Amino acid sequence: MRRVLLKLSGEALAGDKKTGFDEDTVRRVALQVKQLLEDGIQIGIVTGGGNFWRGRTSEAIDRVKADQIGMLATVMNCIYVSEIFRSEGMKTAVLTPFECGCFTKLFSKDRADKYFEKGMVVFFAGGTGHPYFSTDTGVVLRAVEVSADVILLAKSIDGVYDSDPKINPAARKYDEISIDDVIAGNLQVVDMTASILARDNKMPMWVFGLNETDSIVNTMKGRFSGTKVTV
Ligand code: UDP
Repeated sequence: MRRVLLKLSGEALAGDKKTGFDEDTVRRVALQVKQLLEDGIQIGIVTGGGNFWRGRTSEAIDRVKADQIGMLATVMNCIYVSEIFRSEGMKTAVLTPFECGCFTKLFSKDRADKYFEKGMVVFFAGGTGHPYFSTDTGVVLRAVEVSADVILLAKSIDGVYDSDPKINPAARKYDEISIDDVIAGNLQVVDMTASILARDNKMPMWVFGLNETDSIVNTMKGRFSGTKVTV
């Protein structure tokens, strides 16, 4: 693996608080990413925004405007996570698909490549830059654009199950499942738009639990206990 994209949901950044940031959680991620960088792996990060905003809260708010707020939430998240990474000695860049003045730099493939080659952690904030999409689609899109080898989906659940393990105690976790089966079974690894984009562009996704100790490093070092979504 030369280049990977790591997706952190907004909820994951909040830890047990469920909203805002949990510094200890983010620092644990930072220390793991640092180890991978030292092994020569290039890392891009996409965060969700759900710790601040989950789209429309009422009919009074236009969907497009609500989604813009969501995209801005992901920018806040990336700036925060990037700062924690910097405090651990890493170099970072935050790229957005829209101008945020001097807060971020505008995304382009060339710019991302340049930062990756310099050993920086590249944050892809602001999702796709368009309403009616999600950061799931954002991470697949960026992974395809920058030719990542795999997407690491660090979740609150430790893999892909055939039914919801919170509801069904007999739910079975897959070690491996094809993206076609994910789509056919509507298994919600990522949303449907993102699943189709991953299928059409042959982008594998590895799903694992963020809360397990050293799960990101273990995943990259072959000690994987989640689910591999194959393409
Ligand atoms: N969003 C959007 N376009 C994008 C990405 C995100 O409109 O390309 C908005 C959308 O409103 C979404 C919110 O940003 O609900 C936060 O993203 P997401 O729900 O993916 O965050 P997560 O649930 O992973 O924390």
